[in-house]
Amino acid sequence: MDLLNTLVDKGLRRELPSREEALAVLATSDEQLLDVVAAAGKVRRQWFGRRVKLNYLVNLKSGLCPEDCSYCSQRLGADTGILKYTWLKPQEASEAAAAGLAGGAKRVCLVASGRGPTDRDVDRVSDTIKTIKEQNEGVEVCACLGLLSDGQAERLRGAGADAYNHNLNTSEATYGDITKTHTYADRVDTVQKAHAAGLSACSGLIAGMGETDDDLVDVVFALRELDTDSVPVNFLIPFEGTPLAKEWNLSPQRCLRILAMVRFVCPDVEVRIAGGRELHLRTLQPLALHLANSIFLGDYLTSEGQAGKADLEMIADAGFEVETSDQVTLPEHRRGGGCGSVCGSEESACGSEEPVLGAEEPVPGAESAPGAEGSASGVGAASGVGAARVPAAEAPAAGAAGVPGARTDLVAVRRRGAGTDLAPNA
Ligand code: SF4
Repeated sequence: MDLLNTLVDKGLRRELPSREEALAVLATSDEQLLDVVAAAGKVRRQWFGRRVKLNYLVNLKSGLCPEDCSYCSQRLGADTGILKYTWLKPQEASEAAAAGLAGGAKRVCLVASGRGPTDRDVDRVSDTIKTIKEQNEGVEVCACLGLLSDGQAERLRGAGADAYNHNLNTSEATYGDITKTHTYADRVDTVQKAHAAGLSACSGLIAGMGETDDDLVDVVFALRELDTDSVPVNFLIPFEGTPLAKEWNLSPQRCLRILAMVRFVCPDVEVRIAGGRELHLRTLQPLALHLANSIFLGDYLTSEGQAGKADLEMIADAGFEVETSDQVTLPEHRRGGGCGSVCGSEESACGSEEPVLGAEEPVPGAESAPGAEGSASGVGAASGVGAARVPAAEAPAAGAAGVPGARTDLVAVRRRGAGTDLAPNA
């Protein structure tokens, strides 16, 4: 039985693939890409049919963050030109949420920049959650407020939150390269707090920060271990004015391989294509719907997405359907805590050798990072896979002028929706 058949069988049984199998997916060639998508698509359809869940981001508080996450347009000292504003009022947030819900979203993701909420912030967000729930029947609410202190997850749950998002972002081994002001362990702790409070845990990754394939597999295996209900997969948006501005190494094919690997490792969880979808998948976005069962509708936190109408048209054209409020996202065996579905755009957040798909044969890329097209852009990496990492948190911001493959023309800072007087893009 070849690799893909093995992975399909395991996915249908919710069995964990081996690390070598996960690495082999990332090492497949462009010629094998449609076979990979078709195989992972079988697993996706087994657990989620042809449904696509739409989530809608409301940025409650933008910029002004004291943390130094290298990928983030809101980081300390970032010169990114993003909108900066402090907390939206509950009614403002509710009106922003209503626009997304009217556009077809089922879940609203309330996000605030910062290390983590104060107790007063939790009160504030609790009021916002209650207002949104009172004014929008049936809405699911996910909060994403940073690192949680003891008792805060329980208070958010009490206010009506269904889920909590906090991304691991990258492997434990790499985490110190992208952030100095908090640790990987801090992030794990918050995901566990959310889980323990009965919130549906949502945690994902950002690809394209200079990580190796081993790093990607590490973080996805860690997410499976944490038993999160949803895994948002962000593709780095290399914002001008951040240390990762030159990191343009993701290809559409590479993004599909990453999504396929996530689907095989986490077969029955909500896999969401998050920030960077339009930028890095580009015209291959519809293929990615065969792998992920969830996307964000419209704009992201600090950057613009494609029009919400275009999202809906893409879903219909690709033969998928928008999940409705009377449909439960997760398979029955995963329905327990939270609301049975789940958020998480951190936004801001390939192997070129001929891989062997036969399980009996050696697995290329299983022992080392893949080839040139391979891993995404890196934390301070000059280019290519496994390039030496620079502690990006300390690196100066650098522009992408002259970087091969840079598509800065596709990055637009959000200037509409929450925090502005202009209508949102939903
Ligand atoms: S990811 Fe969150 S904590 Fe890190 S700099 Fe951005 S807003 Fe701050």
